[in-house]
Amino acid sequence: CKIDYQAPADLLAGRVILVTGAGDGIGRAAALSYARHGATVILLGRTIAKLEAVYDAIEAEGLPQPAIFPLNFEGATVKDFHDMAETLDKEFGRLDGILHNAGLLGRITPFAQYNPELWEQVMQVNINGPIWMTQALLPLLEASPDASVIFTSSSVGRRGRAYWGAYSVSKFATEGFMEVLADEVEHLGTLRINSLNPGGTRTAMRKSAYPAEDPEALRTPEEIMPTYLWLMGPDSQGHSGERFDAQPPKQ
Ligand code: NDP
Repeated sequence: CKIDYQAPADLLAGRVILVTGAGDGIGRAAALSYARHGATVILLGRTIAKLEAVYDAIEAEGLPQPAIFPLNFEGATVKDFHDMAETLDKEFGRLDGILHNAGLLGRITPFAQYNPELWEQVMQVNINGPIWMTQALLPLLEASPDASVIFTSSSVGRRGRAYWGAYSVSKFATEGFMEVLADEVEHLGTLRINSLNPGGTRTAMRKSAYPAEDPEALRTPEEIMPTYLWLMGPDSQGHSGERFDAQPPKQ
């Protein structure tokens, strides 16, 4: 946990960084924060109006001009990811980072009642889509002199918990895939792959998981950005295949 990390203003200057689920919650905060530290941010998500609002906020601050990439992981095909790679290649020629942040909670319900279609949907959005997107974008990541890929995990991706079903399983798979890929690309020396658990954070997803909780008791997405910055920028060089937390563990 790097909650006290103070990122230099130019931490991500000149870097091209893709943020998935950039329209809301933690992804929105990360996109803005990366742009404020000099990055050209590619805003990916399924609700265009939300992406446009983030785009406008970045433009209003006079930060590097972002790009919008509308994509719904639910219906996205491998071809869509390759088309995306082609577009990004033409536009930028490389990719210096991916924050895999988009996520779907599904339902918190006893496994006996878990709907199979919903299970598939959660796996598609949280792990299968991100995996094939990563495969398509690998050549662009390899073209960067210093790239960082961050997968978003959860406490239930590190220890199973009753009723968390597909969400928990998808986060375990995320941790596993992170380790496999980190090990495969280690020889390159220019690409690091890690996972990050944001910890309980004040967003719409958290609200739907814990409706009775007081949101004021939680950190905001903005408050957990230090670790997101540290892991995306060069200060985390030498770390790969590791699991990080964006907040100190609860006492
Ligand atoms: P939000 O629900 O606020 O944001 C999730 C984002 O993912 C939204 O921008 C949403 O888009 C996008 N998204 C959802 N489904 C799709 C899809 N099919 N295709 C493309 N984009 C999609 O959640 P958080 O900000 O809280 O969560 C961000 C990440 O952090 C997730 O991976 C979550 O699992 C993880 N996390 C969050 C915790 C918390 O306490 N908040 C704790 C542990 C982990 P749209 O707005 O258009 O629906």
